[in-house]
Amino acid sequence: MNTKPIATPTRTKEILQTYGFSFKKSLGQNFIIDVNILKNIIGEAGIDSSAGAIEIGPGIGALTEQIAKHADRVVAFEIDQRLLPILEDTLGDYDNVYVMNQDILSADVERVVADQFKKGQKVRVVANLPYYITTPILMKLLMDRLPIDSITVMIQKEVADRMAASPNTKSYGSLSIAVQYYTEAKVVLNVPKTVFMPQPNVDSSVLHLEMRDEPPVQVEDEDYFFDVVKATFGQRRKTLMNNLARHFKGEMDKSEIRTRLDEAGIDPSRRGESLTMEEFAQLANILYK
Ligand code: SAM
Repeated sequence: MNTKPIATPTRTKEILQTYGFSFKKSLGQNFIIDVNILKNIIGEAGIDSSAGAIEIGPGIGALTEQIAKHADRVVAFEIDQRLLPILEDTLGDYDNVYVMNQDILSADVERVVADQFKKGQKVRVVANLPYYITTPILMKLLMDRLPIDSITVMIQKEVADRMAASPNTKSYGSLSIAVQYYTEAKVVLNVPKTVFMPQPNVDSSVLHLEMRDEPPVQVEDEDYFFDVVKATFGQRRKTLMNNLARHFKGEMDKSEIRTRLDEAGIDPSRRGESLTMEEFAQLANILYK
């Protein structure tokens, strides 16, 4: 058994060399070479010996190895076939790891959870995500209402800030509402570029999402709610009134929109970025009528 963690510069280089592995930028391959960062991520994720874990993109197994040491079981989805023999070798000593050669975006995660974890077991997603598809991956996990308890992911700092943002901040937008409708979102760690091989061009943060049992607001129609939210952020510097008028052109005239905004008790001259989730819900419900 190799006692040195995979997440060190020397061991990572050794593994890459042994297998003649070359990074594919198109797959967002930036591997972590600092074991302390990984331990922090696992702590923030709330992984303990009773938890099941899903990892997206194990790479050569740096994070997978640390999860395997702390969790009951890890199931990892890796799209790059070249990594499978490497993972078989690097994670060979762990019998609680199962690697699937699958694209997470097309995987039947619900089926995998049912097949691979114990009934009633907490299932936590932990990953250093490929940055080119961060949002599609997270939105799939959230919108499919998968039976998972939390998601803790390393992503681009700017995207993490947007997902966890509060009203009246630069980062607040439709992505904040989409994520916070399903989860309680928090940026838990900022991470320097130096912990990756190769180093990415962007700054990174770890985002923790705790799944909500119920959405924090009640909406008549979810698609309609999200459409209204997107519309109000359409042109950030314009007022609510202007953005809504554009969105409902041909469907609802300005005076009708004004009446409904009055009814919702929302000033039409406000900007989308000042509305709370509750106000967006109220607005969408009144416009839906
Ligand atoms: N977990 C490793 C680490 O932290 O060192 C590697 C993380 S690297 C940022 C992202 C990994 O996701 C790569 O191994 C890449 O091949 C994989 N990946 C990219 N797109 C994927 C997809 N659609 N489904 C599953 N894995 C994917």
